[in-house]
Amino acid sequence: MKLQRRSFIKLSAAAVGAMGVGGVAVMSNRAKASPWYHKEVKTVYSICENCFWRCGVKVSVVGNRVYKADGYKENPKSRGMLCPRGQGAPAQTYDPDRLKKPLIRVEGSERGSGQYREASWEEALDYIAKKMLALKESHGTESIAFFGHGTGDFWFVDFLPAAWGSPNAAKPSVSLCTAPREVAAQYTFGRAIGGHEPIDWPNSKYIVLIGHHIGEDTHNTQLQEFSEARKNGAKLVVVDPRFSTAAAKADRWLPIKPGTDTALLLAWIHVLVSENLYDREYVEKYTLGMDKLIPHVKDFTPEWAEQITEIPAGVIRDVAREMAAQKPRAILPPTRHTVWYGNDTQRMRASYILNVLLGNYGREGGFYIAMPPFLEAFPTPPLPLVPAAGGCAGPAAVTEQPEGFRPRADAGKFFAQSTAIQELIEPMITGKPYPIRGLFAYGISMFHTIPNVPRTREAIKNLDLYVAIDVLPKEHVMWADVILPEATFLERYDDFVTVAHKTPFVQARFPAHEPLWDTKPGWWIARELGKRIGLEQFFPWQTFEEYLNTRLMSVGLDLETMRQMGTMVQRGRPWLTDWEKEGRLPFNTTSGKIEIYSEAFAAAGFDPLPKYEEPQPVPQGYYRLLYGRSPVHTFARTQNNPVLMEQESTNAVWLNTEEAARLGFKRGDWAFMINPDGMREGPLPVRVTERIRKDAVYITHGFGHKGKGLSLAYGRGACDAHLQNHYTLDRISGGAGLRNNFVRLEKAPRPRLRSVVQIIRERRG
Ligand code: SF4
Repeated sequence: MKLQRRSFIKLSAAAVGAMGVGGVAVMSNRAKASPWYHKEVKTVYSICENCFWRCGVKVSVVGNRVYKADGYKENPKSRGMLCPRGQGAPAQTYDPDRLKKPLIRVEGSERGSGQYREASWEEALDYIAKKMLALKESHGTESIAFFGHGTGDFWFVDFLPAAWGSPNAAKPSVSLCTAPREVAAQYTFGRAIGGHEPIDWPNSKYIVLIGHHIGEDTHNTQLQEFSEARKNGAKLVVVDPRFSTAAAKADRWLPIKPGTDTALLLAWIHVLVSENLYDREYVEKYTLGMDKLIPHVKDFTPEWAEQITEIPAGVIRDVAREMAAQKPRAILPPTRHTVWYGNDTQRMRASYILNVLLGNYGREGGFYIAMPPFLEAFPTPPLPLVPAAGGCAGPAAVTEQPEGFRPRADAGKFFAQSTAIQELIEPMITGKPYPIRGLFAYGISMFHTIPNVPRTREAIKNLDLYVAIDVLPKEHVMWADVILPEATFLERYDDFVTVAHKTPFVQARFPAHEPLWDTKPGWWIARELGKRIGLEQFFPWQTFEEYLNTRLMSVGLDLETMRQMGTMVQRGRPWLTDWEKEGRLPFNTTSGKIEIYSEAFAAAGFDPLPKYEEPQPVPQGYYRLLYGRSPVHTFARTQNNPVLMEQESTNAVWLNTEEAARLGFKRGDWAFMINPDGMREGPLPVRVTERIRKDAVYITHGFGHKGKGLSLAYGRGACDAHLQNHYTLDRISGGAGLRNNFVRLEKAPRPRLRSVVQIIRERRG
């Protein structure tokens, strides 16, 4: 008899509680004799893949099925708790819509027509290898680009392209998300922010969130620590055109005019400087460029900023004084999605300079300085290229490429090193500066991520080879020549996750059971392909256990110990609290100090100190399109997950109450969103609310799927990327500013959508 989930939970209340760490439940003979008993309940350690906070999870497994995922207290990312997405994550593994076998597009059929035949792994990989080698011969290795997202993207966007010799590898998590904050941090502090924001939340006394959607953009322990800060009495100021979840918890909400944040930041800097409220001793000891900042901000008064931001000058002045009163335990934490209006690196620089004036970098209640634990890489011959996808070391990195290789196709456009994903679309269409004829898409949602979807479709149509490696038949996947079905995170090992946390740690992902159907882990696919394209020497390990164990042995650990523990916290290397006492400057800039004034920017022709630039105005009859996250979903990855879709099955468009009355919308109405190019999205419900300014509308990202193979996600809600036909380029970081996009609303009939619950029942059979 099969053990049902509900029954399992009842049964496991006692049984799971009795489990040892990493062990097997001890069942009494009586329990084993029960008709409920199926098999032993195993605990396996893994890492949640439902967002990139990467919480350590322990999963309860019976046979070939995970029934439950929990946090565990030894893991600093989960501290014993998961968010709803983490708890719902196992449902994806058993999604009947999953890709189950390699597929090859039927010869002669059009891309996007969805005509495929099943293939063996050997045939599919041979097919890809043959095309890759032909492209290498005709156009060079750089004519193949690699896009990816997720833990496994290391193999497809960092390692394989660097081994193959293509500098055209990119992640949306850089130029469509964090590039401005990382580049600004690198050139201010000499240290990027990284995947785990080093904010000492619990010790902060005054927190200012600018466009930071904590509570909606839910990162488990970040939220836990934010709650601790509030419990400890920290004051909270939220700057947002929308009364967000965070704003609802705030002491002050500043409903700023969209796109004017840099003006506000400069006015706050002005107050700290002109009223001598900044941390003078810290600034004198640890920074360069204050002498240039003082005259630069002279005219950026609160009154000047009020005209721009629509926030009263008195409020601007009060908040600056309140921040200063709590320094160095006052902080403006960097948010994740920082590509807004194109001047984004400068906005982030303004925010970091303000933090520096508060003396909080490297201090309690501010930014902590942590080192990631170091594990040796598995020994391989040197890679021909420096991986291009993730870093931000500056333009010099381009010159490190060996002679004979053409630099990345967007080289010279930006100051930062990382490849900008959106800039690799044009070479697929125009062949300039040189042709890109092949593309690998690993785990990414191409049509939900890269702006100007029609252009991306055109680019894909033009390719000689398009390979998608994924778990689900998303729309763009069904345009590929070859589809390689990947095992989910619960079915595979992955490389270790090492985190520069207050307590540095290494965590591991172990498979809960064999991959279902004919699916394979990403590392296996990369290795098998590598062997076929002459890169065998870069994959010298025979098994992935050997690969992992070798890496662990470099620090005196082994895989079996890790299997029992899940997470190893490094002792004796806590976050650096002693740098001031010991006189060690932790700033890795050229000068060794925090660079308020950036000589590097000046030399490259950029403003060495941040300036305010006006955003594009909203055209008559349109609203600025704002977008954000749902606490229940992650990007466009989770809209086919039954557990999460039961909780939230569509997005809604937020429309100001007065505007709604003017347009004749009321609660319960539905609308289409239409951009100035006539692209239409929806229909979706209208949320009539006072909680948004009159000049903007807002939706959560990730809905509006058009892949017909996604039985739950298909046709529900609207996709912001389909409305973002334009972006404003940040020439410093390569970031694509997405908030100069506009929409109008048109009434729509309520669609006849089948209920999610009904579809889930049918899928269960
Ligand atoms: S925050 Fe939630 S979704 Fe993200 S890794 Fe943690 S449990 Fe998973």
